[in-house]
Amino acid sequence: MKTIIIIGGGLSGILSAMQLLDIRKDILVKIINASHPIALGVAYSTNDPDHLLNVPAGKMSLFPNLPDHFTDWLISKNYRSNDLANEFIPRNVFGNYITEVFNSYKNNKQLEIIDAEATDVEKQTNKYSVFLSNGKTIAGEKIILAFGNFLPSNPKSKSTSYFNTANYFQDPWNPAYLKNIYKENSILLIGTGLTMVDCVLSILKTGFSGRIYVVSPRGYTPAPHGKSDNYPDFYKELIGRSLLEIFQTVRFHVKKAEKANISWRAVIDALRPHVQKIWIALNTKEKQQFISHIRHIWGIARHRLPVSTFNEIVKLKEKGQLEIIGGRITTIEEKKDNASISILLRKKSITRELIVSRIINCTGPQINYKELKNELVINLLRKKMILSDELNMGIKTEISGKIIQNSQDVSSDFYAIGNLLRGVLWETTALPEIRNQAALIAQQITETE
Ligand SMILES: Cc1cc2nc3c(=O)[nH]c(=O)nc-3n(C[C@H](O)[C@H](O)[C@H](O)COP(=O)(O)OP(=O)(O)OC[C@H]3O[C@@H](n4cnc5c(N)ncnc54)[C@H](O)[C@@H]3O)c2cc1C
Repeated sequence: MKTIIIIGGGLSGILSAMQLLDIRKDILVKIINASHPIALGVAYSTNDPDHLLNVPAGKMSLFPNLPDHFTDWLISKNYRSNDLANEFIPRNVFGNYITEVFNSYKNNKQLEIIDAEATDVEKQTNKYSVFLSNGKTIAGEKIILAFGNFLPSNPKSKSTSYFNTANYFQDPWNPAYLKNIYKENSILLIGTGLTMVDCVLSILKTGFSGRIYVVSPRGYTPAPHGKSDNYPDFYKELIGRSLLEIFQTVRFHVKKAEKANISWRAVIDALRPHVQKIWIALNTKEKQQFISHIRHIWGIARHRLPVSTFNEIVKLKEKGQLEIIGGRITTIEEKKDNASISILLRKKSITRELIVSRIINCTGPQINYKELKNELVINLLRKKMILSDELNMGIKTEISGKIIQNSQDVSSDFYAIGNLLRGVLWETTALPEIRNQAALIAQQITETE
């Protein structure tokens, strides 16, 4: 019996395992997982019920061919709503759903879950050996890399000693940052996206009454969801176009929608199923231009907040408890128990100084593999079993998930899923994308077996 080894047991890893087990009864699947509970990974390990899914329930089924699977599960748990498909459900409830579904696979004799960290991989002629943190080695014929979300990289600062103090929290998904908060002090969150919002909501629940500063280069925060309009698919108009032409066409449609009293959100949502194809068709220079000039606008339009959460953030801003700053951090220095931060403000080009009692890094998962300190990634890069992609946003793969090794070789037994394909696919981390990737990888693996 052939063995497929999956490194990483978050949602991407378990979806790949379930797809493989559904297709073939004559393979073994071994999932190696560390750090987070199996199946839940970073996103769904939270216990805070205010941390909501950012995708409506109707789009969060684990099975592409059963679109109502999650909403039916919610109904079976007595979750009642007039518009369940459009609701933003707490992520821990979604975590219960994945765990329940995955548990039905756990007694399968073809599946083994190994609680350890994979630290190295070696290739023999037709087999791989995977070395584990517990000193053991396991062997298999095919590997799927499902590392998921690494911790954010530390911000650039002339001095780095503060990053070793107890008041700096590199991991915004671990509630450790809530412990021993002095309620009247000030806190700085670096990053102004959805993770920042989660952190703010959790901090407020401790009774925190001090000031919360948040900073990012532009100071843009996510837009709210709104009425669920529809807009016709205009993808055909974008085929073969340059980045500039695409940008202009999207803007034209946003204006056209506005005139017809249709929300701009519907235009973005009409684009969403085509984003991977649009990204793949751009050349490297255009991709870099997108990252430098458009990514931030795309981010606020695409990663939206439930209206109730958005309103809470607005209220906090109006009350003066939350301040959003657009600018670049130049220095973070230790000052007794505090941090002193210098920010070069975006609009005025002057420096603003802040003193805060703790800093939480909400800048998003590190995707530059060359800068990661992860033992497995370092070993794989050194052996050229993975290569950093040209945008430094993940690794080189084919669209199918097959990893490109050495300089050009496309491997037929080494696959990647999820965040690792950021540079290749751009949109690659949300459930609608990873469930398709898992199905495609399982199909390729089982076809060649
Ligand atoms: C805070 C947050 C909220 C999100 N909300 C949504 C949402 O509402 N809807 C949506 O569709 N998507 C959401 N996402 C996107 C999310 O990334 C995916 O939905 C999905 O959870 C990704 O799963 P993953 O398995 O790829 O990664 P992860 O969840 O990061 O899991 C990877 C797992 O692999 C383990 N691992 C890594 N390296 C090794 C190793 N060497 N050895 C052993 N184990 C290893 C990690 O410890 C981890 O447990 C969110 C992401 C984040 C960070």
